[in-house]
Parts: sequence; C-alpha cells; structure tokens
Amino acid sequence: MIVRCGVLYDGSLAPPRRNADLTIADGRIAEIRDASGAFDLEAACVTPGLVNAHAHLEANGEPDTMAAVLGTTPTQRMLRAAGNAAKALAAGVTTLRDLGASERLAIDLRDAIDAGRVPGPRISAAGNVLCMTGGHGWFIGRAVDGPWDARKAVREQRWYGADCIKLIATGGVLTKGAVPGIAQLSEEEMQAACLEAHHHGMRVAAHAIGTDGINNALRAGVDSIEHGHMLDDDSIALFKARGAYLVPTLTAPTCILEHAGDGSQPDFVVRKAREVNAHMVESIKRAFTMGVKIAGGSDAGTPYNYHENYAYEVELMHRLLGMTPQVALHAATAVAAELIGLHRGVLEPGEPADLLLLDRDAGEDVRALVRPRAVIKAGTLA
Ligand SMILES: [Zn+2]
Repeated sequence: MIVRCGVLYDGSLAPPRRNADLTIADGRIAEIRDASGAFDLEAACVTPGLVNAHAHLEANGEPDTMAAVLGTTPTQRMLRAAGNAAKALAAGVTTLRDLGASERLAIDLRDAIDAGRVPGPRISAAGNVLCMTGGHGWFIGRAVDGPWDARKAVREQRWYGADCIKLIATGGVLTKGAVPGIAQLSEEEMQAACLEAHHHGMRVAAHAIGTDGINNALRAGVDSIEHGHMLDDDSIALFKARGAYLVPTLTAPTCILEHAGDGSQPDFVVRKAREVNAHMVESIKRAFTMGVKIAGGSDAGTPYNYHENYAYEVELMHRLLGMTPQVALHAATAVAAELIGLHRGVLEPGEPADLLLLDRDAGEDVRALVRPRAVIKAGTLA
C-alpha cells in the first residue's frame, strides 16, 4: 500500500517532509520517498498513530468513576472496555497504556485485540494498581503494605500477565477520602516494587500529585510520574537525574472543571480537582521548560474524559504548556511510545505502520488530529 502525504510528520522534531510517498508492506513501513507514480491513499497530512500513555479502558467518562466501577459487574465493565478500545482506535489512538483496571480486564482485552477478536489499539496493561490498604484507587487495586508485600504484588501482576506496574504514591481526586497532596505508599515500598519490576523488565509508573509522593517515587526509581501536578525544584532535579518521564494528564482536571457547575459529579471530586488545578499548569510548564521529558497521556475514562477525545490532551499541551503543535504531537507519539516500550512511535522504515490520515496540517493546527479521515494500525485500515 502506498500513501501519498501532502505533509508528513514522522513523530520526531525534524522538519516535516512534503510530497512524500509512504510504502507499507507486511504491517510495517517499507520506504518513504519523494512522491511519484501511482498511489493507493492520499492525505493532506500524515502523522504517526497517537499513543496515550495513561488511560483506563473500563471507565467511560462517567461523572462518578468510583461508583461506576463498584456498581457494575466485571462482564459489564469488560463490554464497556471493549467499546472504549474500538472508539480510541477509530479516533487515532493506535497504542494505549492501561494504567489500572479491576480484575484482569485490561490484560484479557489486550490479548483479545492482539488475537484480532475485537478492534483496539496495541495495549500495554498494568493490571491492578498497587496501593496502600485503603489507598487511592483501592477499587481497582491490590493492597500493598511493606516492601516484601510490594515485591509479592509485582510478582502477582506479572504472573497474571501485566506488562508494566502502576504504584499509588499519593492520594487522588476520584477516590472518596484520599487527599491528593498526601503521600501514600512509602519510598521503601515503592523501591522494593521498582527493584522487582525492573528485574523482570517491567516499567513502573507512579500516580503522584503531591510533592512528597512525587519525590518519594522518583527516589524509589519509577520510570514515570503520572499527573505530577504539585512538583517542586527537587522534583525537577530528580526527574532529570533519573531520566524519568512526566505524564501530565491535563485533560483529567480540565474535564471535571468544565462540568463543575452542572451538579453531576460528587462534591469531593470537584473540590479536589479545583485544588489540583490551581497548581497544575504552573508545575507542568516549569518541568517542560526545564527539560523534563513530557509524554502524552490523558487519564481517559475519568469524568467526561472520553477515550475518543485524546486529541484534546494534545491541544491542551499546546494551549496550556506553550508547546508548538509539533512538540505536542512528538510528546503524544514518539515520547509516549518510548516510555511504554512497545515500539518507537515514529514513521521510519522498519517501524510498525501505525498512522493517521488527516485533512489539514497538524503542525499548523493541533485540532487537525480530531476525527482523522483514516486510521491505519499495523498496515491495515481501522
Ligand atoms: Zn489514572
């Protein structure tokens, strides 16, 4: 298959290529050269498929996430997750990291997608989150208390088929009673989990909003901080010293607050989202300007944050953080892919043929990524 590209962004920060033909063979990119001769598909703009480094497929953007998980059966949630995977793919997300699900739902869904039984992105699944007893996310979590228990919990998730590990380093917005600014799993517990996970080649993500929890997790050796909305100068120094990534999930508080006035969400959710949002933009912007690696991830599934709206995260990185559209696209493709580790997220010979066909130049307007004209995953039109 030959795709004629008006302008081609390869996912890197290199200047885009104009009037190019991208050839796909056996699900991979075979060649990119100057346009000439016949072609099969044509688009004004071609980009890599989007990579969402933080999503929860079983959650559907319901106004009360905790109630939506606790009030449904595993089979209902699995059907919802399969529907969300299909919607994410159709909207251009070709790779997704599920950072916490109940049961073995995201792991089983990953396998069903890989086997071609249902449509969806390539998935890296964390399994259950590892949280302290009664900690944030307990309703999709495995309670962990003490370093040896943390090691055991990592071994369990690996045994169940998880690709990566998710730790809960602080309270969070969507769990009743959890305070986002307060640390939860200890540095010792997280360090034990990181040692065990890295020993098995699994990457570790930490949910961390408050400063102490962010810095505990970075010292413990996590590969990414999720949210990171209250970081300080020590955090930035730790990020850079450890080479850790920051996944800002700007969409999550933004969508909660966009619907704050309609009374649909629990009061504790709106109140905590306001507290977090007061620090978010300044913290993340500071990290970005100081050179911390920012990887795209939206926390899709949280209130009013739909799996098909990942382009909104790219728009917010551009609008709120001051990234150029191309830098925001880079964060939501190559950088996020590098963090997940399934592939490189760039359009180069030998890489998987995951790409979007757009009607407008995404480097001029990030909103060109909303509703792509066509999505190709592994060389096949989705
Ligand atoms: Zn999350």
